[in-house]
Amino acid sequence: MSRDQYTFTDPAKLYADIEPEKQHQPEPGLDAQLTPRADLGEDTYRGTERLVGRRALITGGDSGIGAATAIAFAREGASVALSYLPSEEEDAQRIASIMRDAGATVATIPGDLRDAQYCRDLVARTVEELGGLDIVVNNGGKQIYNEDLTTLSDEQFDDTFKTNVYAMFWITKAALPHLPAGSAIINTTSIQAYSPSDILVDYASTKATINAFTKALAQQLAPKGIRVNAVAPGPIWTPLQVTDGQPQEKIAEFGEDTPLGRMGQPAELAPAYVFLASAESSYVVGETLNVNGGKPTP
Ligand code: NAD
Ligand code: MG
Repeated sequence: MSRDQYTFTDPAKLYADIEPEKQHQPEPGLDAQLTPRADLGEDTYRGTERLVGRRALITGGDSGIGAATAIAFAREGASVALSYLPSEEEDAQRIASIMRDAGATVATIPGDLRDAQYCRDLVARTVEELGGLDIVVNNGGKQIYNEDLTTLSDEQFDDTFKTNVYAMFWITKAALPHLPAGSAIINTTSIQAYSPSDILVDYASTKATINAFTKALAQQLAPKGIRVNAVAPGPIWTPLQVTDGQPQEKIAEFGEDTPLGRMGQPAELAPAYVFLASAESSYVVGETLNVNGGKPTP
């Protein structure tokens, strides 16, 4: 490893030469087909034993932010279960193999987050295969842009809420009886929670909900020793962006409106999840950690 996440670097220059062109994939998309490939920290994330012996479930762990987090958790010493859609098996197996190279126990559990029974089974299988559970990362998500509310289908509205909000509720509810004091729940919200785009009405609404869910539940669970926090990414290069998450005309300038002047890479998100999962953040509760290149937040 020449560079790792601790290497002193100018953040405005890091990754600044990466300029993706228009491209499209059918939902949910594959990291394997993203051009250029996103940086998931494969060659740079260096673990320092911050999650030794911990057992984590990560939804959307096959690609993007979830995959970068999964690699980091594995290198920090955790056992990890990955949830993803069956069509993402190729991405999931690549990430699982990188994690196993780090010596981690990995469970791959495909299924559809819109299905309550899958969400409950996912938690049960994670507990069975990892021998317990003390980190839950609700990260799987759906984002399809729509320019006119009158054409936003009831089905899409429902699917976006099922995937982004209901699954978080079902999984967290099923996980709670298994979570010992010291556990961490981390939900992926977005800058869209408080700075919503006109073309992401359904998606932005789910992200505001995730933020409120996080802060309400954090207060409920703090006395039990379970910390609930959120990470709010800004514009990050992942398959979500090329599967109708936004119009492809916008890809060339993606992230240029941030103070850093560039989009972020999934590898830059992983340390935020590691921090919130680890006991080092013991007094951090109900926080939304923004990782967005400098956009002001409430
Ligand atoms: P991604 O496409 O790599 O990850 C999203 C994952 O969600 C997919 O890999 C898929 O496994 C999972 N998923 C979607 N629908 C599912 C379903 N019905 N059943 C099971 N799994 C399903 O993209 P990402 O950008 O890494 O997204 C991860 C999270 O980050 C999402 O919650 C997203 O809203 C959030 N986020 C992303 C950005 C960004 O710019 N990329 C910004 C803010 C927030
Ligand atoms: Mg994926």
